[in-house]
Amino acid sequence: MSKTLNRRQWLARSSTALGGTLLAGYGGLNLGLIPEVNAAPNSPIRMMFNENPYGPSQAARKAMIKAFNEGNLYSKDAYNTLRKIFAEQVGVTTDHVIITSGSTEVLNVAGLVYGLNNGEIITPHPTYGRLYRYAERIGAKIHKIPLDENVHFDLDGIRKAMNKNVRMVYLCNPNNPTTTITPKDKLRELCEELSKDACVMVDEAYFDYVTDPQYDTMIDMVKEGHNIIVTRTASKIHGLAGLRVGFGIANPETIKNLARHITGTTNIIGLRAAIASFQDQEFQDFSRQKNLESREIVYKALEKAGRKYLQSHTNFIFFHTGRPIREFQKAMEQHGIIVGRPFPPYDDWCRVSMAKPEEMKLFASAFEKVMGVEIGIRN
Ligand code: PLP
Repeated sequence: MSKTLNRRQWLARSSTALGGTLLAGYGGLNLGLIPEVNAAPNSPIRMMFNENPYGPSQAARKAMIKAFNEGNLYSKDAYNTLRKIFAEQVGVTTDHVIITSGSTEVLNVAGLVYGLNNGEIITPHPTYGRLYRYAERIGAKIHKIPLDENVHFDLDGIRKAMNKNVRMVYLCNPNNPTTTITPKDKLRELCEELSKDACVMVDEAYFDYVTDPQYDTMIDMVKEGHNIIVTRTASKIHGLAGLRVGFGIANPETIKNLARHITGTTNIIGLRAAIASFQDQEFQDFSRQKNLESREIVYKALEKAGRKYLQSHTNFIFFHTGRPIREFQKAMEQHGIIVGRPFPPYDDWCRVSMAKPEEMKLFASAFEKVMGVEIGIRN
């Protein structure tokens, strides 16, 4: 929200600008899968943190309410239950899995374990920065490999950066903020090669949104015994970002080593919500479908405006604004929409997270005004 406006003024202005549709944007289609009421109905629309606008699911909400009664208990049983369900779903034994306070916790801990004592880390750039920034703070040397001219990972550049001090290679697939995937054969080949000399971390936070047959998880490589850690999260398709549940999947020795350095713990409410959500295929399918619909609306708006964008494999889109992102961000905010922060060096690109389709139509009409082009997508 603009610092120069108070909340009441901002609301008056934005609801005028959007013809009062902002308030109507919440609620959405109800198939019995989603609650009638969603968070913060009078706030600007959040399109900046890649959250699921529908979550948590009804099943997760019920489980959370029930879990109030367990609030006095340590969460070991719920932890073990979720660990078992998750391990079965991804096809590993439970000793291959660690559950952490969001996947951020396992990323930070990996940054610590592999970055300490002059460890070096390779990462494409830009990417999700938690791991390398954490490692940087404890003195690790980070090799940031720029993306290639197609805004994809430069796999040969990554290979060339390897040296005897590199202990970790971080590969986010699909990548945040660029939304791109590294095809399974190429990634597998790279992982096989690099994991002989360093631990390869494959961050699969957006795994559940990918429908492209060129994509695959690298969990099979963990099963085959390679030095690889895969991470997943309950924050995205499961809509539990505020509940902090994430996963690391690796060989049991690596899991034990990571566990020794964990400082955060998981909580009973989040664990119970995740137990319900991971068994609720219908909600995941619903969220995936809605995400596809939202993406189509944004693609259409971008095409009408003649803006370049990358084919998304996630719940966000990365597109070329052609103007400084800070300016664009501010202008969109005046219309009640918050888009993502800058991702240097792509300072005239924008990462916009998918909200509900009806909200993405509001994005399209705000975009039309901000860019000064006729788009014609209306709610
Ligand atoms: N990894 C990627 C690629 C992300 O984009 C995010 C969050 O946006 C995370 C990990 C962290 O998710 P969490 O800590 O909520 O599990």
